[in-house]
Amino acid sequence: MELIVTVHQMQQYAEQQRCAGRRIAVVPTMGYFHEGHLSLIRRARQLADTVITTLFVNPTQFAPGEDYQRYPRDLERDSQLAERSGCDVLFAPSLDEVYPQGYATTITVHGITEKFEGAFRPGHFQGVATIVAKLFLATKPHVAVFGQKDWQQTLVVRQLVRDLNFAIEIVVAPTVREPDGLAMSSRNVYLSPGERQKATVLYRALQRAHCLVKQGERRRLVLVHAMEAELRQVPELSIDYAAAAEAMTLEEPEEFTAGQTVVLLVAARIGATRLIDNDLVQVPSSEDACA
Ligand code: AMP
Repeated sequence: MELIVTVHQMQQYAEQQRCAGRRIAVVPTMGYFHEGHLSLIRRARQLADTVITTLFVNPTQFAPGEDYQRYPRDLERDSQLAERSGCDVLFAPSLDEVYPQGYATTITVHGITEKFEGAFRPGHFQGVATIVAKLFLATKPHVAVFGQKDWQQTLVVRQLVRDLNFAIEIVVAPTVREPDGLAMSSRNVYLSPGERQKATVLYRALQRAHCLVKQGERRRLVLVHAMEAELRQVPELSIDYAAAAEAMTLEEPEEFTAGQTVVLLVAARIGATRLIDNDLVQVPSSEDACA
């Protein structure tokens, strides 16, 4: 596996691959790899001839006071894991390489960015949209793989790709979980053993609402209250939001309709760690609802 650290070299490499008729997949990440990241790299391997993983802890997507400084980093370990998962190139530019002195451009995606994560993390999606666009321009991919774990982010990226005419296919891969249901996250290393155990409540909250939908419940607030009630079982948890929305638009109707795909979303803080998770569920027709 090759390590590339400059945008110029990355663009030259990508151009050569394209000229040789090779299909490029990119997996954008902030590193400190776990099975979730590696599953995206393996998926990319199936989709393309050349797999580029980007590793950049992007300061502009952290809101003031968030964990940018202490975000876990380990380039040596990440290189080994990426290579073993089938990555051809690790693109790991420095801060100065991405945002040199005098850098002055940001990208704002309106609408979809304004609720949920956007409301709780000011500037987050502007940082995400800007870095994703820059990484696309550096790596020139045909396809980009993102995790369902950050559902709202996948919608922001889809909007960005549509609006700026990036000729890139967006693939969303399922969330990889620990055996007890906790979604894998680089931030899980912040959790104390006690917090780690309690953090599984996010998954239980999603499961509870998922079952309700499968049983025929369509009222949004019933789903939200069920998730909140589950989350409140852990008093140490501070809820940012529990929500149910139409999966692709994030609209929140009073009632969902048969056939719609609902995204259930939770975000909560436990100690100093903020965790998010989500689940997708299709609303059954009245006849198909299970008892
Ligand atoms: P991050 O390094 O946290 O910015 O994540 C990089 C990519 O990995 C994003 O597309 C995430 O959605 C995805 N990702 C993070 N956690 C998981 C997980 N548990 N399962 C699948 N994908 C994930």
